[in-house]
Amino acid sequence: MFEQVRIVLINTSHPGNIGAVARALKNMGFSRLYLVAPESFPDPIAESRASGATDILDKAIVVSSLDEAIAGCRLVVGASARGRKIPWPVVNPRDLAREVHSLTQDDSEVAILFGREARGLTNEELHRCNLHVHIPSNPDFSSLNLAMAVQVVTYELRMKYLESLENEAGDSNMKAMLSPQDSGWDVEPASVDEVEMFLEHLERTLIDIDFHDPEHPRQLMARLRRLYQRCCLDKMELNILRGILRSTQKVAGTWGAQSPGSQ
Ligand code: SAH
Repeated sequence: MFEQVRIVLINTSHPGNIGAVARALKNMGFSRLYLVAPESFPDPIAESRASGATDILDKAIVVSSLDEAIAGCRLVVGASARGRKIPWPVVNPRDLAREVHSLTQDDSEVAILFGREARGLTNEELHRCNLHVHIPSNPDFSSLNLAMAVQVVTYELRMKYLESLENEAGDSNMKAMLSPQDSGWDVEPASVDEVEMFLEHLERTLIDIDFHDPEHPRQLMARLRRLYQRCCLDKMELNILRGILRSTQKVAGTWGAQSPGSQ
């Protein structure tokens, strides 16, 4: 599990927090840190706050977009201090640990996203997630320091791992959804980037057939995104859906060079 979980920090403002996250990760046995457009990195302040965890900083992968940070992942989780406009599947860190533990029994990878100190994750970023994790803090003062939030989440992951060593395999009610191969599924699950390409294609097609007006989006794509990200599409199901969109565009006379995946 430790090698299959990426901690992704988005647009972090304070290098000290990046260092403190590196320390928290190493304490809990994790090492894969992704930094999406950090304001200042590398930075001596990050080094000093990392204490003995500078190796985690040296190995950190700096990218410019969220897509690069989550490419190839099976599950993307967003850590959020507060509820948002459209409710999304949300778990606490302990339940998340159970899901991550069961999902990483094969070689699936998981990304856990943490937001900006001042503003957290944007709605768009949260909508890219299959699941949200919320640390059930004081509702009147819910926002933890970034590194402390990482600490709590990774602590629960570690606890779950230690528990599993004692052979207490937790029963997971989302196991069939998140790990269909464990329940004898016949087709490999689709990755998040494949689902993302499908959602782009879906949006394009819905515009083509005048179902969706991007000028008045009214949360349509967020709701469809939530639906498709919830049901754990496999590669075959995804191909069928893409085929339906292609045929729809052909009938509408809009299938062509600009259609996603038409090349
Ligand atoms: N002021 C921001 C919170 C920033 S804290 C806001 O109101 O959204 C920085 C990051 O730490 C958050 O984006 C989130 O990823 C994580 N975090 C802080 N408190 C959290 C909590 N109670 N549960 C889950 N994640 C939390």
